[in-house]
Amino acid sequence: MSMFAEQETWNIVYNRVLNKKICRRCGALNSPRAVKCRRCKSYNLRTRKIKIR
Ligand SMILES: [Zn+2]
Repeated sequence: MSMFAEQETWNIVYNRVLNKKICRRCGALNSPRAVKCRRCKSYNLRTRKIKIR
Protein backbone atom coordinates (compact mmCIF):
# COMPACT_ATOMS: atom_id res chain seq x y z
CA MET A 1 0.00 0.00 0.00
CA SER A 2 1.73 3.09 -1.26
CA MET A 3 0.19 6.52 -0.99
CA PHE A 4 2.91 7.95 -3.18
CA ALA A 5 2.09 5.70 -6.11
CA GLU A 6 -1.54 6.66 -5.81
CA GLN A 7 -0.62 10.34 -5.84
CA GLU A 8 1.48 9.82 -8.96
CA THR A 9 -1.41 8.11 -10.70
CA TRP A 10 -3.67 11.02 -9.85
CA ASN A 11 -1.16 13.49 -11.19
CA ILE A 12 -1.13 11.70 -14.53
CA VAL A 13 -4.91 11.54 -14.62
CA TYR A 14 -5.22 15.23 -13.77
CA ASN A 15 -2.70 16.22 -16.39
CA ARG A 16 -4.29 14.17 -19.11
CA VAL A 17 -7.94 14.73 -18.35
CA LEU A 18 -8.19 18.09 -16.65
CA ASN A 19 -5.41 20.03 -18.34
CA LYS A 20 -7.66 20.98 -21.22
CA LYS A 21 -9.33 24.02 -22.60
CA ILE A 22 -13.07 23.95 -22.71
CA CYS A 23 -15.11 25.98 -25.16
CA ARG A 24 -17.54 28.29 -23.41
CA ARG A 25 -19.77 28.21 -26.44
CA CYS A 26 -20.18 24.52 -27.29
CA GLY A 27 -18.38 22.81 -24.41
CA ALA A 28 -15.92 20.91 -26.58
CA LEU A 29 -12.59 19.86 -25.11
CA ASN A 30 -9.54 21.29 -26.78
CA SER A 31 -5.84 20.79 -26.28
CA PRO A 32 -4.14 22.97 -23.62
CA ARG A 33 -2.37 24.92 -26.35
CA ALA A 34 -5.43 25.43 -28.49
CA VAL A 35 -6.19 29.03 -29.38
CA LYS A 36 -9.64 28.43 -30.76
CA CYS A 37 -12.24 25.73 -30.51
CA ARG A 38 -11.79 22.84 -32.92
CA ARG A 39 -15.52 22.36 -33.25
CA CYS A 40 -17.09 25.81 -33.51
CA LYS A 41 -13.93 27.91 -34.09
CA SER A 42 -14.79 30.12 -31.14
CA TYR A 43 -11.96 31.88 -29.33
CA ASN A 44 -13.91 31.85 -26.10
CA LEU A 45 -12.02 29.10 -24.31
CA ARG A 46 -11.50 28.54 -20.62
CA THR A 47 -8.95 26.38 -18.88
CA ARG A 48 -9.86 23.69 -16.45
CA LYS A 49 -7.02 23.25 -14.03
CA ILE A 50 -7.51 21.89 -10.57
CA LYS A 51 -4.61 22.23 -8.18
CA ILE A 52 -3.78 19.33 -5.92
CA ARG A 53 -2.70 20.25 -2.46
ZN1 LIG B 1 -16.68 25.44 -29.39
